[in-house]
Amino acid sequence: MEKTVLITGGSRGIGAACVMAFAKQGYQVAFTYRTHPQDAEKMTEQLHQQGAKVYPVCVDVSQQEQVQRMVAEVEQKFGKVDVLINNAGIAQQKLFTDITAEEWRRMLAVHLDGAFYCCKEVLPAMIAQKWGRIINISSMWGQVGGSCEVHYSAAKAGLIGFTKALAQEEAPSGITVNCIAPGVIDTDMMAGFSEQDKQQLAEETPVCRLGKAEEIADTALFLASEKSAFITGQVIGVNGGMVV
Ligand code: NDP
Repeated sequence: MEKTVLITGGSRGIGAACVMAFAKQGYQVAFTYRTHPQDAEKMTEQLHQQGAKVYPVCVDVSQQEQVQRMVAEVEQKFGKVDVLINNAGIAQQKLFTDITAEEWRRMLAVHLDGAFYCCKEVLPAMIAQKWGRIINISSMWGQVGGSCEVHYSAAKAGLIGFTKALAQEEAPSGITVNCIAPGVIDTDMMAGFSEQDKQQLAEETPVCRLGKAEEIADTALFLASEKSAFITGQVIGVNGGMVV
């Protein structure tokens, strides 16, 4: 039977690469967008023309009622969610002393509340069928901390703790929960960096380049597969050797 993947933040960057990769592998793909409906529409149209089953839904993952409605819509469309990829995210570079309480709360809400709400909605069906895959997109900054990204680093470190704990709780139900911790990946999230900054980051990366969104998608495909059944509660670094 066809498996369904739900990818949050699928309109751009890493999420969009996951949408393309999972659709190509024959998954039924539900994905979310928020502020870029035109990107979501374009990708959906392109994939529909290729015969893929793709369903975009607008949602702010930090809002529980919106997530509940979104998962209900996806379940109505595709029956169930077998694989959840918590990818939606925001970034901000700011001195700690300049981060406002509102910015702090927003960062935690998108990354942590978002993952919490999405997992809560999809887990009952995964537990019932005794099979599921949850893949959380953290960051190497959640592993080692990033200067001028204290709120982002805290949210991503929180996601690692969330992953490890949930993995232990859900393992007896046949559900694996893992994190991917990307290094510097060339997406819109890097738009605030100049070409010179990006060049420097590439030079600081042992493999001497930035990562590609497709490389994260390929890792997610493996973690979603049967081949990864004995891997749970892990943080998989896809970072060109930046963090070892
Ligand atoms: P992009 O900025 O390219 O895309 C972010 C995606 O998240 C978009 O699809 C956006 O939707 C969605 N999104 C943002 N806020 C919300 C929200 N409140 N509710 C629902 N969706 C939302 O980022 P990347 O692809 O680079 O990053 C994807 C993930 O990978 C993030 O979690 C990020 O932290 C993580 N990551 C990225 C790295 C990098 O170097 N790029 C490195 C390490 C981790 P829309 O555009 O429609 O609003």
